[in-house]
Amino acid sequence: MNAPLTQPLQFVPGGVDPALATRLRSAVRGELYFDRASRGRYATDASIYQVDPIGVLVPRDDADVAAALDVCRELGVPVLPRGAGSSQCGQTVGHALVIDHTKHLNRVLQFEPDELQVTVEPGVVLDQLNAWLRPHGVWFAVDVSTSAQATLGGMAGNNSCGSRSIAYGNMVHNVHAIDARLIDGTTASFGPEAQMQEAPARVRELAAQLRAIGQRERDAIAERVPRVLRRVGGYNIDVFNPQSVRPYTRDGSVNYAHLLVGSEGTLAWTRALTLDVVPLPRHRALGVVNFPTLYRAMESARDIVTLTPTAVELVDRTMIDLARANPAFRPVIEAALIGAPDAILLVEFCSDAADEPRRRLDDLTALMGDRGLPGTVVPLIEPAAQKALWDVRKAGLNIMMSMRGDGKPVSFIEDCAVPLEHLADYVERLTEVFRRHGTRGTWYAHASVGTLHVRPILDMRRDGAAKMRAIAEEASALVRAYKGAYSGEHGDGLVRSEWVEWQFGPRLTRAFEAIKALFDPAGLMNPGKIVRPPRMDDATLFRFPPGYRVTPLTPALDWSAYDVQNDALTETLSAPGSGGDAAHGLAKAVEMCNNNGHCRKFDAGTMCPSYRVTRDEIHLTRGRANTLRLALSGGLEGDLAGDAVHTALELCVSCKGCRRECPTGVDMAKFKIEARHRRQATHGLALRDRVVASLPRWAAWAARMPGLFNLRDRLPGAAALTERVLGIDARRSLPRWRSDTLLRTAGADDADPSVVLFADTFTNALEPENAHDALRVLRAAGYRVAVARAPAGEAPLCCGRTWLTAGSLDTARREAQRLLDALAPHVARGAAIVGLEPSCLLSLRDEFLVMGLGERADALAQRAFLIEEFLDAERRGGRLALPLRALPHSRALLHGHCHQKAFDALKPVRAMLQEIPGLAVDVVDSSCCGMAGAFGYEAEHYDTSLAMAELTLLPAVRAASRDTLIVAGGTSCRHQIADGTRGTNPRAALHPVRVLASALQ
Ligand SMILES: Cc1cc2nc3c(=O)[nH]c(=O)nc-3n(C[C@H](O)[C@H](O)[C@H](O)COP(=O)(O)OP(=O)(O)OC[C@H]3O[C@@H](n4cnc5c(N)ncnc54)[C@H](O)[C@@H]3O)c2cc1C
Ligand code: SF4
Ligand code: SF4
Repeated sequence: MNAPLTQPLQFVPGGVDPALATRLRSAVRGELYFDRASRGRYATDASIYQVDPIGVLVPRDDADVAAALDVCRELGVPVLPRGAGSSQCGQTVGHALVIDHTKHLNRVLQFEPDELQVTVEPGVVLDQLNAWLRPHGVWFAVDVSTSAQATLGGMAGNNSCGSRSIAYGNMVHNVHAIDARLIDGTTASFGPEAQMQEAPARVRELAAQLRAIGQRERDAIAERVPRVLRRVGGYNIDVFNPQSVRPYTRDGSVNYAHLLVGSEGTLAWTRALTLDVVPLPRHRALGVVNFPTLYRAMESARDIVTLTPTAVELVDRTMIDLARANPAFRPVIEAALIGAPDAILLVEFCSDAADEPRRRLDDLTALMGDRGLPGTVVPLIEPAAQKALWDVRKAGLNIMMSMRGDGKPVSFIEDCAVPLEHLADYVERLTEVFRRHGTRGTWYAHASVGTLHVRPILDMRRDGAAKMRAIAEEASALVRAYKGAYSGEHGDGLVRSEWVEWQFGPRLTRAFEAIKALFDPAGLMNPGKIVRPPRMDDATLFRFPPGYRVTPLTPALDWSAYDVQNDALTETLSAPGSGGDAAHGLAKAVEMCNNNGHCRKFDAGTMCPSYRVTRDEIHLTRGRANTLRLALSGGLEGDLAGDAVHTALELCVSCKGCRRECPTGVDMAKFKIEARHRRQATHGLALRDRVVASLPRWAAWAARMPGLFNLRDRLPGAAALTERVLGIDARRSLPRWRSDTLLRTAGADDADPSVVLFADTFTNALEPENAHDALRVLRAAGYRVAVARAPAGEAPLCCGRTWLTAGSLDTARREAQRLLDALAPHVARGAAIVGLEPSCLLSLRDEFLVMGLGERADALAQRAFLIEEFLDAERRGGRLALPLRALPHSRALLHGHCHQKAFDALKPVRAMLQEIPGLAVDVVDSSCCGMAGAFGYEAEHYDTSLAMAELTLLPAVRAASRDTLIVAGGTSCRHQIADGTRGTNPRAALHPVRVLASALQ
């Protein structure tokens, strides 16, 4: 194909215009960023592209946006509206002033139950909206996979489509009106024709000119706009001559908002959107059809849609295998399989009548039987089981992106839409195209509407760009042959705008340019998208262009597992350490972040507490990963030790939420250890950090003189003094030192112990009663127990956690080595190593494995358990005889330590507590408690720490009745609960083992 370039726009990476910064600073109240690191954090989205913006504005309100557009217009500076930045095609990447609407412009403005309409600001996130709407019995049904982060402004910008579009349509079918601001400052509500009569003269004139273009191009529209539901490329010029198989409006009339939908921020700024909502379906059922081949699955989609399902979604063999390899997804996917299918289709039926979805499932089963596939349908009736499987499907792309090595699944033909009758042939022929180009793709998603997602694996640092173009050429020829749409879901952006002319022809492309000129004569709104685009394979726009360099660096931890290359065809990985990373795997580990923005979710799970309380990109896992990537590739001063990295990591509480919940396993807590290690090598450690890091050393002195060490909370003025000298917040109480440490009071060990209790510094010196209760519980269950001890004359054993946190890796390694020396003989005998403090014990299964401690560390990791994990595994193995009786309490409220959650070690806690007769256990769906070791004690972090606790944990604790037990496994969590509920309704939390011990018969 000849690239259809008409006056391509030049992207000139450049410095900041001082006039712009000065003018904006005096015009807006919101946050403005022009520094290199902040611009770098806004230079990417979930695409392959990266372009530094000129600056970033986080507007406080609509007036800020108005002022910024005025300044930009006067200075001729381009503007780029941005939501969550989860676009896959480079829509939110550009040399412009980025305006991020997510932090402040996120209110639901109005709900009209009778009209079934809701009006929202552009920064409202879809899940947030649907949570708001649920009590009203309605929802906004464009259910994109990125519902936890995608904003309504961004969804409208991209004309997004959900899994259930066959039933509900795309954004364009569900937006009633858009309140827009043009670059010249005009504001107006764009909506149905009648409404436009009330618009200002400039907009009435604009509407008339648009109408004229529509009239003029009627024939071209009929000829060139694909007649499929999923067509999101170009502008929706077919508002003037409807082509979609699902009309945009019921009566075919023009709605001018629909022209803004899908315009990718190139025409106007969306101030507010009025959306059509629909009643929540009361009953759903899901049938999973298992197919012997992908071809049969695709062939069957056409028949299945005749049963009027609300969704038909494909998951192919590779995706099934990847889901099986993920511990969280394995049981869910396996429950949906019959044998070893090559592909499955998820077929959903909804109805208000209770038995209707089940009846439809029977129809589905009968249909498959008629088609020669009897016994292939797994019915899922329970809502929880359905949701779990939908979550696996929604995670599809992210599961794929967890592939290590430079070859990654690349998004450029990932959402072509073809009519259903051609779907099977299209898939087969495109698979052959991939094979010829030495790659493969994984197929999944919206079989119901002929939009299958597929991303061939390409290495953009090497031959990826050439292969991308070649595959795009062949894919487009197939799409044309089947009369499909080249852009069926994710929009045009930088990767597909070049194909707009190919799809719509020169005449409609000129019409698109004319539409753009009517709205935005100077071409300032998100230039280079939809009209006048650059080439898709312009390597100067790539995040990882050929020649991408990482600054050589020797990390302190072992990252070699990431330093690999993959073979696109055979799916094999090269040996650890062979990937050619100049940072020995650290850079490739950081590059695992693909910018999909899932860490912006705020409702469930742990990730990412600092974002949840600040809503700042810098305090988000993605923002941190981007900062680290820039630092590692020479884009920021001072590499990992520099100020930009330090600032970005400052509020990271090392909760490891991202380690588990980031779909590609970005492990920021480990990166932070690495960064702090380099920082202290160049800057040294501050006094407070030295004191905190060496706590396990001076803990022995504190135990000898607890009265002296506890003076700080008793002596008037001492707290203020420690704040001045050490930066420990005066409002915090400090943990109380004890003279009766476990090591002094534990008594004799049992002979030939089967369990060895590792009492970490905090348990030993601050809460020895927890360890005593652990000994009681273990012995009551019949185990022979010993307490792990250091050789005589040495300091008590320690996992080294406090030094790890400070980045003092040499000391941390020495401590780990001592612990290993003490425990290895027990491990060799087959004893279990059991601990109480999650952050200490779990470091034996995490950081110990990348500290160069050798094979003994691997063996220890296999045998190290939190006490509840150990007991529960014994219980499940039928080996546990723990005599428990009922307590006076009938309920327990359980808060999980973040590291427990990151290692899926909270379920055993709940399971063991539920062994207590009559005790109901509620788990708080809390993120980090905010204390996070020393973080919550630090004066500059006190407010952030409490804000994290106030997200869900403290309100849940306060709401619990007085006779509900509050249970928390982490010492910091217990302290935060006590501090956070001081005053009228103080609550103390217990370690779970104390509750078990109190229930011993
Ligand atoms: C893993 C993954 C899964 C995805 N699944 C789906 C899916 O199921 N369905 C789907 O359709 N898409 C999907 N996407 C693409 C993307 O998530 C959606 O397009 C989403 O709706 C974008 O929302 P956002 O808030 O991130 O918008 P952004 O990416 O920030 O912006 C999108 C566009 O809207 C414009 N825009 C944003 N705000 C405004 C405003 N106030 N005024 C004017 N223009 C504005 C931007 O300039 C940009 O062009 C997926 C992406 C990923 C990474
Ligand atoms: S850190 Fe993980 S969840 Fe966040 S954007 Fe990167 S890959 Fe996505
Ligand atoms: S470790 Fe926790 S705070 Fe840090 S980036 Fe990950 S989720 Fe966020």
